[in-house]
Amino acid sequence: MSNILDLNPKNVFKYFSEICSIPHGSGNMEKISQYCMDFAQKHGLRAVRDAANNVIIYKNASPGYEDCAPVILQGHLDMVCQKTDESDIDFECDGLELFLDGDYIGARGTTLGADNGIAVAMMLAILEDTALCHPPVEAVFTTDEEVGMLGAVKLNMSLLSGRRMINMDSEDPSVVTVSCAGGSDFSVNIPVTRRTVQGSCLEIRVSGLRGGHSGVEINSGAVNANILMARILNKLYSEFPFDIVSIDGGDKGNAITPACCAKIVCENADGVAEYIEKYAALIKEEISSREKGFSCTCNIFSGNFDVLMTPDTKTLIRTLLCVPNGVIDMSMEIAGLVETSLNLGILMTGEKAINLSFALRSNKMSALKFLEEKMCAYFSNIECDIKTGGSYPPWEYKNDSALRDLYCEKYAEKYGTAPTVEAIHAGLECGVFSAVSKDFDCISIGPEMHGIHTVNERLSVSSTAATYDIVLKVLSELK
Ligand SMILES: [Zn+2]
Repeated sequence: MSNILDLNPKNVFKYFSEICSIPHGSGNMEKISQYCMDFAQKHGLRAVRDAANNVIIYKNASPGYEDCAPVILQGHLDMVCQKTDESDIDFECDGLELFLDGDYIGARGTTLGADNGIAVAMMLAILEDTALCHPPVEAVFTTDEEVGMLGAVKLNMSLLSGRRMINMDSEDPSVVTVSCAGGSDFSVNIPVTRRTVQGSCLEIRVSGLRGGHSGVEINSGAVNANILMARILNKLYSEFPFDIVSIDGGDKGNAITPACCAKIVCENADGVAEYIEKYAALIKEEISSREKGFSCTCNIFSGNFDVLMTPDTKTLIRTLLCVPNGVIDMSMEIAGLVETSLNLGILMTGEKAINLSFALRSNKMSALKFLEEKMCAYFSNIECDIKTGGSYPPWEYKNDSALRDLYCEKYAEKYGTAPTVEAIHAGLECGVFSAVSKDFDCISIGPEMHGIHTVNERLSVSSTAATYDIVLKVLSELK
């Protein structure tokens, strides 16, 4: 069996296998961060490490490049830890067991962490190689990207003087990413009062919807179960007024809600259930091309129930029915890109309040701020508490990007065709860096990977070699 260490470029795969031998799941950053510091010391390179375990290693310009502006290389140190049921790995202290399958590297029974270990390996290989041509290099190794970009947001940006950056956290070599969404969490608590009633409770369950990532899949046609439930309840209320006990759907702000359950107390529960079934059949037909698995079921049980007071029930239905949700605007600069969106990911009923949690996103800062304003205005019509937080900046598309043009040129020289220039409607660390300055020039690239964040994660060896080669050529022309 061929050895990973025999693969080319040798120093890239040497560092990659060293990284894979060090446990480095999100939240477990101490050892891998120290490894980077030890590397810097061994190679006589200046380095800093901060309280969040982020590391920056500086390398001087090669001869002839001393007067050039610095370039930032960036990747994240943490990986998503997933394993098969059979694997007995302890991610806290064990390394990965790599294998080679044709052109692909995998890890036995676990994620590989090529996202983003291969970026770290390429950066170390560049820092080590004294024969390369490049401007001053600022290599930034961030921590805990996979759990909210925690390292990047804590990084002291004044440690960097570069205003152009190659982020290597992408997984399709034919794509150069040039913009990402910023976002914020928008949470609303609607206070409710209750009374106790005796009667029949109808449990309405909407399920089987596709769900998906609330950023990159917000325009996939997936239906949000919370919003669909509001539609059913509103229709029902006009025919059979009822009292709400609870409505609950979703547990992740960044996922399109696939299921929602409402409990209501009503008279003639059997008749109401029949009415709902008919209406659900109509909806099923309407959304059949986008939601094949949709189902709506009813269960009836009797007893004493704490229900919302009638005005609260009415307010809640109206609020959920009309709240903005989904795609708000498309980009006019990049075809097919959702520019601004939001998703009601969590709807949760408590004893004294109902909580609605939205993930707001936009690839433009001003549009994100406007969406926040709009939501505040919408909820100002009812009594409620609004909390915003978890905000991260977008990486806005730039018409002029010398780095993008140079990368595309070098890519085309290698592959014979130009790469696709894309933007994504989700957060990347590039957003945090590009917020530093209006003139920040940035691209996100990376070698071919499949199945990231799963036990089927694979990294292409040939694509890694090609990507590394293009990066070296770009560096040598960054005068
Ligand atoms: Zn990543």
